[in-house]
Amino acid sequence: MNVAHFFRRNGIARADRPAVALGRKTLWTWRELCTRAARLAGSLRGRFGLAPGDRVAIFAGNLPQYVELLVGSWWAGLAAVPINARLHPSELAWIVENAGASLLFVDPALEAAAAAVSAPELRASVTIGTPSYEALFAADPVPLAEVPADTLAWLFYTSGTTGRPKGAMITHRNLRAMTHAYFLDVDERRPDGCILHAAPMSHGSGLYILPQAAIGALQVVPESGGFDEAEIFELAAHFGEATLFVAPTMLKRLVRHARTQGLEPRGFATIVYGGAPMYLADLDAAHAVFGFHLAQIYGQGESPMTITALDRRAHADTTHPRWRERLTSAGIPQSVCEVAVHDEADRPLPPGEIGEIVVRGESVVPGYWRNPQATAETLRGGWLHTGDVGCFDADGFLYLKDRSKDLVISGGANIYPREVEDVLLQHPAVREAAVIGLPDPEWGETVVACVVAEPGIDAPTLDRFCLDRMARYKRPRRYVFLESLPKNSYGKILKRELKAQLLGPRENS
Ligand code: AMP
Repeated sequence: MNVAHFFRRNGIARADRPAVALGRKTLWTWRELCTRAARLAGSLRGRFGLAPGDRVAIFAGNLPQYVELLVGSWWAGLAAVPINARLHPSELAWIVENAGASLLFVDPALEAAAAAVSAPELRASVTIGTPSYEALFAADPVPLAEVPADTLAWLFYTSGTTGRPKGAMITHRNLRAMTHAYFLDVDERRPDGCILHAAPMSHGSGLYILPQAAIGALQVVPESGGFDEAEIFELAAHFGEATLFVAPTMLKRLVRHARTQGLEPRGFATIVYGGAPMYLADLDAAHAVFGFHLAQIYGQGESPMTITALDRRAHADTTHPRWRERLTSAGIPQSVCEVAVHDEADRPLPPGEIGEIVVRGESVVPGYWRNPQATAETLRGGWLHTGDVGCFDADGFLYLKDRSKDLVISGGANIYPREVEDVLLQHPAVREAAVIGLPDPEWGETVVACVVAEPGIDAPTLDRFCLDRMARYKRPRRYVFLESLPKNSYGKILKRELKAQLLGPRENS
C-alpha cells in the first residue's frame, strides 16, 4: 500500500477540513492538498518522465510545500529524498549525486547553496514557490500509483563513522508501521488537532506528518520556518490540541521561555521528544511547565521514530514504585519491532547486561542505498545494529548508555566525529585530530576538536577552514591544542581517555 492513501482518504472523508496552514492561515483543505499532489504527480510522471522508484530530492527548511512535495512524490510512486537544510553545498551535492535524484526542489532561501549542484542523473532543479514551480500544478491529476509495500518512499541520509552519509531506504511498509505504532505506543489519545512543525521536516517532524495526517490533523508550518519559542506558544494556543516533535534542547528552550515570560502554556496536546538523551532534571522542569503532556521516542533513520517509546502514561504513572527510574529510560519496544541487546558476538544478553541495541521488524529499513557493504554490516543476522549501547531492566524498559558509533549529538543534530576529523586533517598544519562531544548545558553536547598541529596555527584559522568545508552546526566550537593524543598499543586514539582528560580538573585549552 502507498502511504499517500492516508492523504487520499482525507481528500474524500475530510475533504473540506483544513489540511495545511502557514502560521495561522490555512493554505489548503485536504481536497485541495490531494488535488495538488495528484497534479504534481502528473507533472513528475508526464513532463519530467519520471518512473516509479525514481528519486525526488527536497532541499528546504520548513515550508508548507514540504507536505505537497512529499505527498505528490508518493502519489506518483516516486521516492522523496529530504535533505537537511543546514548542510554545506558540497554535502548537498554529494547526496543529490549519490541518491541519483532526477529532480531537485530548492527552498528559495537556499538557492545560492544549491546553485552549483550538478549530477549525471539530475534533470532539473526547481525553486519552490516560483511561477515555474506553480506551473507544475497545472498538469492533469493522475491516479494514485499502486506500489508494493517494500517500495522506497523516503531516502533518509544519515552520517556514519566512515565519512560519507548513507541513505537509509525507508519503504512504504516502514512508514505505515511507524504511523500505526504512533497511536499504539506513543500517544494513545489521538488528539483531534494539529501538528506544529517546529523541528526540521527533513527529519523527525517530516516523518510525523504521516501519523498526524492519518487522523486528519492539520499540518501547521510556523511562519518563521524555524524554531521560535514565542511563535510555538502562540500557535498552540490559537489552534489547540497541538502535537509537536522536538529534540530535548528545544524542549528546554520552550520550558525556559515559559518560565521567563511567565507563560501558562495553552493548547498543547502532546510534546514528543527524542533524538538525543533527556536528563531527568530537564524532564521534571518540562512536567512542571507543561503537565503530563510528554512522550519520548527512540528511533533512528534505519527504524524511523520506531525503536522504543516511553508513552504519556508512563510519564504520568507517578504512583509506580519505579516511576522516576523509568523516566530515565527510553521506554519499551514499539509494537511493530522487536528490540534486543546483543554482545559482541551477536548473542542476546539478559536484562541488566549492557550491549548493542538491535532491532528487527516492520519498521526496519531493508538497507542502505547503493551500499551493499554497509547494508550487510548493519543488518547482519537479520537485526539492525543501531550502534547504540544500552540494557533492558527486568520490566522490559530500555536504558540507553552510550553510543558505540561515537556520535556527538548537539542540539538534537547528529555529528559524526569522523566527518569533522576528515576535514581538519586536510589542513596542512594539522598532524592529528580527534573530535569528541563534551557535555553542554544548552546543547546537550558540544563539538570539541583535539588537535596536534604545527606551531603557529590557531583556533580561528581552523574555524574558518571548517566553515568553508562543512555545515556550520558540525564545526568544532572549541579547539584544544595538544602535544600528542592518547593512543592504545595499536595506535587507536583513546577518545574516552581524551574526554576524561578534558573533563578533569586541569583542563588544557
Ligand atoms: P537519526 O538517525 O538522525 O534519527 O539519529 C538516531 C540516533 O539518535 C540514535 O541512534 C540514538 O543514538 C539517538 N537517539 C534517538 N532517540 C533517542 C532518545 N530517545 N534518547 C537518546 N538518544 C536518542
